[in-house]
Amino acid sequence: MAELEGLEFGKSDFVLLDEVNMEQFMENLKLRFEKGRIYTFIGEVVVSVNPYKQMDIYGKEAIEAYRGRELYENPPHLYAVADAAYKAMKRRAKDTCIVISGESGAGKTEASKYIMQYIAAITNPSQREEVESVKNILLKSNCVLEAFGNAKTNRNDNSSRFGKYMDINFNFNGDPTGGHINNYLLEKSRVVQQQGGERNFHSFYQVLRGGSEEMLRSLHLQNDPVSYVYTREGAASVVSSPPPVLQECHTCQINMAVLMGNLQFETDTESVQVVGLEVLGHIAELTATEPDAVGKSLLYRTVATGGGEVIEKGHTEKEACFGRDAFAKALYERLFGWIVGRINAIIEVKDYNPVLHGKNTVIGVLDIYGFEIFDNNSFEQFCINYCNEKLQQLFIELILRQEQEEYQREGITWQHIEYFNNQIIVDLVEQPHKGIISVLDEACLTGGQVTDTVCLQSMDTKLGQHPHYSSRKLNPSDKTMEFHRDFRIRHYAGDVTYSIEGFLDKNKDPLFQDFKRLMYNSSNPVLKEMWPDGQLGITEVTKRPLTAATLFKNSIVALVDKLGCKEPYYVRCIKPNEMKSPVLFDDARCEHQVAYLGLLENVRVRRAGFAYRQPYARFLQRYKMTCEYTWPNHLMETDREAVEAIVTHHGFQDDVAYGHTKLFVRTPRSLFTLEQERAALI
Ligand code: ADP
Ligand code: MG
Repeated sequence: MAELEGLEFGKSDFVLLDEVNMEQFMENLKLRFEKGRIYTFIGEVVVSVNPYKQMDIYGKEAIEAYRGRELYENPPHLYAVADAAYKAMKRRAKDTCIVISGESGAGKTEASKYIMQYIAAITNPSQREEVESVKNILLKSNCVLEAFGNAKTNRNDNSSRFGKYMDINFNFNGDPTGGHINNYLLEKSRVVQQQGGERNFHSFYQVLRGGSEEMLRSLHLQNDPVSYVYTREGAASVVSSPPPVLQECHTCQINMAVLMGNLQFETDTESVQVVGLEVLGHIAELTATEPDAVGKSLLYRTVATGGGEVIEKGHTEKEACFGRDAFAKALYERLFGWIVGRINAIIEVKDYNPVLHGKNTVIGVLDIYGFEIFDNNSFEQFCINYCNEKLQQLFIELILRQEQEEYQREGITWQHIEYFNNQIIVDLVEQPHKGIISVLDEACLTGGQVTDTVCLQSMDTKLGQHPHYSSRKLNPSDKTMEFHRDFRIRHYAGDVTYSIEGFLDKNKDPLFQDFKRLMYNSSNPVLKEMWPDGQLGITEVTKRPLTAATLFKNSIVALVDKLGCKEPYYVRCIKPNEMKSPVLFDDARCEHQVAYLGLLENVRVRRAGFAYRQPYARFLQRYKMTCEYTWPNHLMETDREAVEAIVTHHGFQDDVAYGHTKLFVRTPRSLFTLEQERAALI
């Protein structure tokens, strides 16, 4: 919190504002952005504004300046948080995590990369080869994941279309020994369709534009994205991203099979046919299957009758198209999952023996989609926004509530801070039997008759009274909702109107068993490995598979559990404008983000509170040598009295409060003085 820079750059910590209100907050944020100061603290939280230009603040010198220093010794920076998380992990053997949040284009992924680079730079000073190799793979895995999981959108040229959580494991030396990646909800609908001006995943264009002639020929491809239905929309726009090394031939194969969205169907008098048998043959070749088998899986599905009989049923043209797209999406999704699995297998910590190697600690880095409000919000936005409610809940839990509760427990005078607890919205979405996901699932399991509209009616009936739920039906006079097919959730970050259209299909996410069997029967072992569920016969297939929403919910609950037992550090990213401009600060848009990230509440809590706290015994143990009354032993009755003696001796009695079991220190500077004295003595 030290005022390390002149005031012309604004306050480097929002805690230092004269008054905590939106006006002052925004004024400071804007001033700093305009002066090229893109980072500002709120205590240990870093608020970042996307500069949309290269900044000269990430080099070797900067790394050295932050390395091993205390948070308050340097200007705010991602490196300061990365170092704090690293120190907590190394000194106190704590598992820590860095949660990076903000909306699309706010700079989350760039921030996560700088953090990883910092950690890579400060570890393994002795350059041990095996550690270097782990670091290398961790850093490079990013590039591969971005190729397959990122795409150009209208908001961000390199938008991550999946959520990512990466654990980095460390040995007792504090050197990385491995890691693990979890991916969340890849936006697979992008494989078959993109909005105007947007592109498919980078990987497609990298292969089509960057593949050698020989490779493309062997894949029966032309080096022109316009030739393919699935890549046509984004063919015109070129995004500069380095092509990854595509050595895995089967990767290309699968990738290309997906491109076969070019397959069309036609209905003649009797039945549906595939148009263009040549493409069919290529798909069979690339997937190591028989053309007849491919054709059949596209045109028929196997169903079990009520009597247990198995019959083949021909598709309508519409069903065939639906099946084809579902298949393409599933191919890509499984490929992505498989790639993550391969990376994990390589970076997994092997042969770690805690007895020999000491405690294995972890730093987790979460880079996940922020809150989304579009003109048209669908199932994907519903999932993403639910995820953000959960993360907000965790933030409240960890930063706001725990803080207040601890002060109360310790008997420290504490002024209560009002904040909105979003648990009620989390419940609205996820509560068993009552929540939106549960109503959706019920509708999906009821069978063919239930339409999106019927499902919406059921939601209206069950949730109509909920203060955070509304629909046009329930409020006919509400002109902001146009259709009876909309419902609205009052999220903590603002109101979002969702169009129910497509919810049921996306939630059911059906893929005919025939495709799975086709892939399982492929003579390509990698494909076979990706489709183990293809071995089930139609009568063995479970009738109640978990729905997309439930699978997503389960993964997010697991994520929150994982984060919840770590010491959290936060980076809150803000997008200054919609034009990707380095000079524009859109006041209204920024204020909105500050509001929904809960930053003002964060400052209030932080100001009312104490930066550091330590049990008396530990404090005494660490600092007793800095005071003549406590060194080597003290004669006082309690540790608390001894601690009081140290504090008074150093003259910062006005900066602390004495709890029942712990000493609370308001500003970091006091502790810093102590640390320096201690260092001088040892
Ligand atoms: P998000 O992951 O939040 O969607 P990104 O991290 O992909 O956003 O950032 C979007 C774009 O903004 C980047 O491609 C880059 O051009 C720019 N950007 C973000 N952070 C920085 C930064 N620290 N320095 C320079 N440019 C940045
Ligand atoms: Mg991103």
